[in-house]
Parts: sequence; structure tokens; C-alpha cells
Amino acid sequence: MAINTYELTWDLDVFFEGGSSSRDFTDHLEKLKEQLAEFAAAVEDWEIPVSSSDETLVKLLEKFQAVSQNLRQAGAFVSCLQAQDTNDTRANELRGMVTTLSSSLSTILTNFDEKLLNIQEGIWNELLEQNALKPLNFVLNERRKKAAEKLPKDQEALINALSIDGYHGWGEMYDTIVSQVKIPFEENGEKVELSVGQAANKFSSSDREVRKRIFAEWEKAWDKQADLLAGTLNHLSGFRLSVYKQRGWDQILKEALDYNRMKQETLDVMWKVIADNKQPFANYLKRKADLLGVEKLSWADLDAPVGELGTSYSYQQGAEFILNHFEDFGDELTQFTKKAFEDRWIEAEDRAGKRPGGFCTSFPVSGQSRIFMTYSGTPSNVSTLAHELGHAFHSFALKDTHPLNRGYAMNVAETASTFAEMIVSDAAVSNAKSDDEKLVLLEDKIQRSVAFFMNIHARFLFETRFYEERKKGMVSKKRLNELMEEAQKEAYVDSLEEYHPLFWGSKLHFFITGVPFYNFPYTFGYLFSLGIYAQAVKEGKGYEQKYMAMLEDTGSMTVEDLAMKHLGVDLTKREFWEEGVKLCIKDVEEFMEMTNK
Ligand SMILES: [Zn+2]
Repeated sequence: MAINTYELTWDLDVFFEGGSSSRDFTDHLEKLKEQLAEFAAAVEDWEIPVSSSDETLVKLLEKFQAVSQNLRQAGAFVSCLQAQDTNDTRANELRGMVTTLSSSLSTILTNFDEKLLNIQEGIWNELLEQNALKPLNFVLNERRKKAAEKLPKDQEALINALSIDGYHGWGEMYDTIVSQVKIPFEENGEKVELSVGQAANKFSSSDREVRKRIFAEWEKAWDKQADLLAGTLNHLSGFRLSVYKQRGWDQILKEALDYNRMKQETLDVMWKVIADNKQPFANYLKRKADLLGVEKLSWADLDAPVGELGTSYSYQQGAEFILNHFEDFGDELTQFTKKAFEDRWIEAEDRAGKRPGGFCTSFPVSGQSRIFMTYSGTPSNVSTLAHELGHAFHSFALKDTHPLNRGYAMNVAETASTFAEMIVSDAAVSNAKSDDEKLVLLEDKIQRSVAFFMNIHARFLFETRFYEERKKGMVSKKRLNELMEEAQKEAYVDSLEEYHPLFWGSKLHFFITGVPFYNFPYTFGYLFSLGIYAQAVKEGKGYEQKYMAMLEDTGSMTVEDLAMKHLGVDLTKREFWEEGVKLCIKDVEEFMEMTNK
């Protein structure tokens, strides 16, 4: 392979030249504002079709599509600006402008949806037979069904207005409380106050004394805020439940399942299979306790390292490692990845002033993506890079589909990314230079399974039980602690000596208002991509075309149909889930073997 030197910074000028002071970008926003006004007027003037040959819906959808793509392009650009420099205040102003434009689109769409709902059933079905609308049947029917399950337009508009302070406001309140949490800690004889993020890093310390001490301070700090946190959680969930009640929804998971386009049955069987297969993971936790020289693990030990990693990879080496192993899977992924490196789609430089974490965002108007991360040379950086490239490849696979068919949900969003990450982390394990290194890499994989099968499971058990109790009234902080500890004991099958009852307060995900039940889709995505991975390993290079065809359908099908069409499996049955869990158990078995000395 010809060796190119890849740059560590990305190119945003191809979209809009000049960063946050770009003239091109302000022009884009101006144009977008006009487009929105035009779309609003067109929806307002739209006369509900009364004949099957009416073409006004097609025309409206063209406008909708153009507006939403331009809006996403704008949002992606601002996200990149904000992430690359947290001191860029102009970027924050631009974010405000984009948010305003997004909310005016939502208002227009409420009007649009109500008109969709008023189209008479027979005409509706005939309209869907039109050539231009046929490929959009799934998303259009979904819109209409969702509109039908909501309250009349005026009432939904009122809920929207009230939710700014009465719902999302509580989510923001959570951020405010967390920003004030300080965790006192003594280090090298000096007393320091750590932020939540800094303290969390200490849980991966190799010194147990440090981990136990930070955990005790951590619990104390959250307990201090527990009244405020409990009030916030109760009001946030109370608002959500009141809206559900008004709409006549009595299943607390309804919104979450609809959003993820999946059946309750699928969710139930997934958890059932996981619950039935916990023993190997409990054995792993026991072995980890042995390796750390303790009787039973504490919550504070879960992230503790079992060994040390010598190897570090330069960015160039990381890129080449990824390319080499993608090559075993398929040419499209490899060529795509090469292009992403060459055309500077990736911001990886390790410098101050960048936002932590990683993400991938797509620029639909340009048909490109951008990846953000901070690369410092660890194997986990290489995995993250592969993960984000997987997200970018997902967008690439969708490039020829109708823009309205590209909206995939959280549970399938992590499919392509986990898949790409798996290719690289499996390769890393088999290429390990020593047993020590292999063990660390293997444990990294197992920890991921433990997170999805135990930690996320605990969150799901807690959250469903909490919402059921909340229906009957306020839930006290004492009760919240109890519910959490019970859920953790169940999810970790009593493997730990000490749990984290205040986890309901320390974990942001319970306070996210945009997406309800921000937990089970993670586990779904993980196992779903494992199932696909298992098939890819079996079928070799020829699998790529099938894989891409599956990705292409992720925005326009239920997950059950997607799995049936492309994998030939029934997600409401145990088999598929068992296959995926088995792969994870294999890692544990190897780990047990290696540490059986
Ligand atoms: Zn991801």
C-alpha cells in the first residue's frame, strides 16, 4: 500500500470558508430562513388532497427535504466549530441561531402532520401508490400514525410551549446541579476539589486505595445534592407522565419503543436472553477480584486495570492498522476510509481547548462526514477512530437513498460503528505482542459486554420500576436509592460487595428529555451489530454488499423487518440474541483460560 502522511486536522473550509466568521455560512443561514418561510406558507396554503392524482404532497415533501438537509448541514458545521475550540463564543451564537431555525421547522411540521392526518383513509392509500411516494411509504405512514396518537394540534402546541420551562428546564437544571458538584480529594499531601469528570477518571486508577477513597467521596458528594436531584427527577418524569396520560398512553415504554421502531416483544426477549446468560460474566468478575487480590469487587473496582499496556500507536500507525484490517472485510469500506483520511475528514489533534469525547456528523448537502476526537496513541483511541469511521460509513451507505429515508434511530445508529470497532479490536487482540497486552485488550472487550449486559441492564430495570412508582406519586430519595441498589444487585447477579445507590443522580442519562429511556438502545445496538459481525466473519469478503444493503434500509424499516429482510432472523425469538451473547462469552472463556494460572 502506498504510504501517505495523513494530517491531524480537518477541513471545514470546503463547506463554508472562514470558520465561525464565515460569510458563506451567514449567507447559508439567510437562505435557510427564506426557505423556511416559503415552506411554512406552502404548508399553510396546502389544501388537503381529495384525489389520488393530486401531486401537491410530492411538491411539499421536496421543500421539506431541501429545508431539512440545509438545516442539518448548518447544525453539523456549528457542532464542528464548537467542538474544535470551546472558547469560540461566535460559534455559540451561531448555535443559538440554528436552534431557533430548528424549532420553527418543528412548528411547521406540527401543522403539516395535522393536515396529513386529515387526508381521508382511502385517498391516503391511493396517494401512497404514486411512484414518487412509494419509496416513502414507511416514513409517511409512521408520521401519520404518530400524529394520530397525539392530541389535537392546539393542545400539542401548548404542551410544546409549556415543555420549555416545565420539562426541558428540569434537564437544564440537572446540568446546573452537576456543575456545582465538587469532589474533595487528597493527592500528594495536597487537598484538591475535583469536578465530576476528573473524579470519574480516578475509577480507572491502578491503586485500590485511591479508587475506594474517591468512591466514598463520590457517594458523599452526590448525597449532598440528593434532595435537589430527586426533586429534579420527579418533576421531569412527572411532566412526561402527565403528557402521556393526556394522550392516553398508559405504557411507559411506548414513546421509547416507537422512537426506536421496535416491538416490546423484541425488547423482552433480548433482556431475557441476557438475564439467562449472566453466569460467565459473574465468573469473570470473580476472576477479576482474584487478580486484584480481593474477595469481591466493589463498584469502584469495575474499571480498574488488570495489567499495563506498553504499546502506543502514532496516528499514522493507527490509520494504517485500521486500513489493513478493514481491507479483510471489504473494498468499499477500505476505499471510503482512505478517502476520509486523505481528504481531511478527521480532527484528531491532541491540543488544548478541544471538547472531550468523540463524534461523527454528516453534511448531507455535500455528501461528506466529519469525525471529531483527540488522538493520543492508545489502543482505545484506535478503536474510537474505527468506531467513528463506522458511523461515517453508515452515512456513506445511505447516500443514494431518499433523504427522508435516512433518519435512523438510536438502536441502529450504533450498528455500523460497533461493527467497525469490532473489526479493529478483534484484530488488536490477535495481533497483541505479548500475553500481558493480549489480556488487557481482551478485558477491554469484556468490559464492554459487562457494561451493556449489566450496567445498562441495571439502568433499564431501575428506570422502568421508577416510572411505575412515579405514576402513583413522588418517589423519595431514600426510595430512589433502594430502587437503584436492587436493580444493580439484580443486574450484576450479586457479584459485588458494594453498589452505587446514588447512580440515579450521578448518571446524566436519566435526565435527558430529548430521548426517553436512554439505555436499552445501547444494548440492542451492541448485540445487533454482533449478530451481523458473526455473519460477516462466516461469509468473508462477499458480505460487504449485503451489509451495505442492510445499512441502506436502517432509516425506513422497523428493526424486526430489517433483521428479517437482511439477516433472515426473527428478533422476537431467542436464537439471534443467543448468537451474539455467545460471542461475548467466548471472550470471557479466553480470559478465564489465560488467567487460570
Ligand atoms: Zn457511536
